[in-house]
Amino acid sequence: MHELGIMESAIGAVLREARARGAMRVHRIVLRIGTLSGVEPEALRFAFDVAAADTLAATATLDIENVPARAHCSACHEEFGVETGFIFTCPRCGQLCGDIRQGRELELSHLEMS
Ligand SMILES: [Zn+2]
Repeated sequence: MHELGIMESAIGAVLREARARGAMRVHRIVLRIGTLSGVEPEALRFAFDVAAADTLAATATLDIENVPARAHCSACHEEFGVETGFIFTCPRCGQLCGDIRQGRELELSHLEMS
């Protein structure tokens, strides 16, 4: 389960930030996860419980924002939503394209601590 490794490094970054700000407790962590990032939100929640145990973030709320994938067509400049995969067909002109503009995010977007 690679979600545990991802969450361990996310928690590591959160704890470094908390120490840098002199925080005693982390209240809320918001992650942005693209639908093409290859990460399962449910597995990430489970990994969070494991990785955050016995840390300043143990009681924090984990919110996951799903970022829908969008691709851009270089032929007609249409931008369109996609589900999964690597190569997409433009719904406007039929051109194949793999220019993903969003959906691969795996980032910490918000942090609350005190
Ligand atoms: Zn197109």
